[in-house]
Amino acid sequence: MPLILITGLPTSGKSTRASQLYDYLTERIASDPSTSSKFRLHLISDQTLSISRSVYDLDPAHTPAHVRSANASEKDARAALYGAVKRVLSPRDIVILDTLNYIKGWRYQLYCEAKNVQTPFGLVQVGCPVTRARGVNEARIRRQEQQQQSTQPSTTDTGATIPTAAAAGAAPKSGDLHPETYQQSHQNWQQKQFEESTTEPDSEEVQLSPTDVQEPYLPRSNWENLVFRYEEPNPMTRWDSPLFILTWNDTPEEARKVFDQIWDEVVVNKPQKLIRAN
Ligand code: ADP
Repeated sequence: MPLILITGLPTSGKSTRASQLYDYLTERIASDPSTSSKFRLHLISDQTLSISRSVYDLDPAHTPAHVRSANASEKDARAALYGAVKRVLSPRDIVILDTLNYIKGWRYQLYCEAKNVQTPFGLVQVGCPVTRARGVNEARIRRQEQQQQSTQPSTTDTGATIPTAAAAGAAPKSGDLHPETYQQSHQNWQQKQFEESTTEPDSEEVQLSPTDVQEPYLPRSNWENLVFRYEEPNPMTRWDSPLFILTWNDTPEEARKVFDQIWDEVVVNKPQKLIRAN
């Protein structure tokens, strides 16, 4: 049964739509006796495989010492996702893959995998303005900062308070602080300066759902680079079709119509109706 890829900009609402599609398919499969014993449903994502968002950061300056290279961590993540899909994909299994799916070569590879097991394939693109998607990442950064502030008292062994970069706009002065405190404080300040220098001011204020627990893409340049590297689907190519579009503003009823189309065209493979243009 089909492999359905979800694609879109980082933090554009992909997981929200993926879980709505999962719920829709669960209900649809259960309500139809001809499919309930036949189909199994799987949702695979970065979260289900515990893939951190830092793997997408290709800046060698941020690569931890134990990682082979910045590229390697993303390749390892892709290998894990590919392996997870390959393990379950079969003529009986419906697989939703909720990850960025932003590289066309990667989508082609997954399309070939579906063809290999003679099962259908479809792509769902979640459309969202860049400013709104950036706003989601900003909201998650703010939430993470608040959580860190409430769980970590910013003191050293010397008992001195470390001025965080968020609290202090100016660079700390070495003479005012204990050397260890100064070093820590200066690092915080430098990190903040770096992040601010790469921040696009243009972002919308977004309300995160109360159940949202996802980590942000950090540093901000990681998110910006992913947007820059995003390869838009082209429905004229075999590996990007059929392409279904959902936008942030689509109501549950509108989303349901798209899910109905996915069911007809991809899951049960009904031939498309011919629409005559007048
Ligand atoms: P992604 O998987 O692309 O990172 P998520 O689906 O996790 O994005 O959504 C990010 C945040 O935006 C969540 O808090 C979610 O509740 C909210 N959100 C996503 N889509 C919508 C939408 N269509 N309407 C309102 N809020 C949304």
